[in-house]
Order: sequence, then C-alpha cells, then structure tokens
Amino acid sequence: MSSPPPALRILAPDEPPAFEVVNPDGRSSAVLLCDHASNAVPRSLSELAMQEEALSQHTGWDIGAALLSRRLSVLLDAPLVLSGYSRLVIDCNRPLGSPTSIPEISCGVPIPGNTIGADEARARAEACFWPYHNAIAALLDARRDRGEATAILSVHSFTPSMFGQDRPWHAAVLYGRDRRLAAPFLEAMRREPGLCIGDNEPYRITDGGDFGIPMYGEARGLPAVLLEIRQDGLLSAEGVEAWAQRLAAIYREIEAGGLLAAGSSA
Ligand SMILES: [Zn+2]
Repeated sequence: MSSPPPALRILAPDEPPAFEVVNPDGRSSAVLLCDHASNAVPRSLSELAMQEEALSQHTGWDIGAALLSRRLSVLLDAPLVLSGYSRLVIDCNRPLGSPTSIPEISCGVPIPGNTIGADEARARAEACFWPYHNAIAALLDARRDRGEATAILSVHSFTPSMFGQDRPWHAAVLYGRDRRLAAPFLEAMRREPGLCIGDNEPYRITDGGDFGIPMYGEARGLPAVLLEIRQDGLLSAEGVEAWAQRLAAIYREIEAGGLLAAGSSA
C-alpha cells in the first residue's frame, strides 16, 4: 500500500515507535504481549489527545500492565512486545473494523476525535496497529524457525468496578478454545490464599472481540492465555512485584510440568 497523504500521516518521524520489543532473545518459552501498555496519543490526533480524563483511565490503557509485563520479562527472561500508543487511537486487541477497534464510545463515555472516516481508520491501523502486530509475528516466526517451544502470555488489567458494580475478582484467566495453558493457570491461581480468580470473567475471549489470543495462540497452535489483574493490585511497586513474582512462579511450575514438551511447536 502507498503511504497515506500528509494530512493522514499519523506519526511524525520524531515520535516514539508504535511498539517496543524488550529482551527479544530471552530464553524463556514464554512470549509476553502487552496490547494496552501505553496511553500516548500521536500529536496529529489533537482532538483525541485533549481527552485527558479518558486517556488517564482504563478507557485509555491498562493501568499497571506495562510495569507488570516488564517485570515478568525480567523474572522469566522472556521476550516482551508492548504497544506504543493508546487503545483509543486504535485497540491492538480488537480485529480491525470491529465497533471497539476505534471506539466512538468507551465504557459509556463518548470519545471526541474518534468519529472518523475509513481513510483515517486505515491510516491509524498502518501507523499503530500493524507495526505492533508485525513485530509480534516476526518474533514468533523466528522462534518457530529456530524450533523453540513457545507459549503466549497476554498481560492486561481491569477496573475494580464497572457501571457502579464492584468486581470481586483480584485477577482473571481468559481463554478461547484452547485451555492447555489457562487450565493450569486457573488451578494454580486459585490455590493462592485469599484470592478470587475469574474464569473467563469479567471478560471472555471471542474472535470478534479479541485479536491476540485467536491470532497468536489458536491460529498458530501455541498454548496461550490472557491474564487480567485488577488495577488496584498494580498501583504500587510492591503490588506489581507481588503479582510478577506470583505469575512467574506459576508459569515456571506449569513449564516444569511438561506442557510445552507435550507438543506445541506449531
Ligand atoms: Zn487490556
């Protein structure tokens, strides 16, 4: 595809890239993804950039998810790919064209700046969606070509309440058709004292509402899970560290149990 005309150029050359790859040669079998890592908005999207309230909240990004995934990357020695811009620019965990890909309303709040035409939607995808996903695909292709067993851990966070309803879960394990990784994660997390763990709650994986798990787990035959941590558990450095230590220990235990040796090199 040819470059969009200047009026639709979303990222200026001096702006940060649409993705970051951390520890690409990490030796873990886990590959970490953080779809909602950032609440940055390109300067060209000035109307959207003014929505400071929406951008600071879950509507803009997953609070704490980037910190948690960076710490997990260190503890597991795992590669990590993070998105570089807000989900309000374009949501990297939604299929293009879905109603929540570039939401005009998010969590009941109208988003000025997101009532746009097809040309701008395409330009945002070229600028902020595809570079992130191309980086993930390249990383996974390289691991496949080297014959390395791989499992996908997608790291997210969710709000303590929604539409005035408190959410009881401290964290949640989400999956689609493949429960190879989700089932042992759920079992291990539910063994932790004092924790309430959601099983495909408060969200569940669907082909229409998710991109990463269907694309990188199911389509490639790789064990994959989406881990959701409630935001209030990630607001302090101690909270992030506790979750990182807990999740890393659980992953190592699952890995030691032979999940990946049992055939996941697709
Ligand atoms: Zn998320």
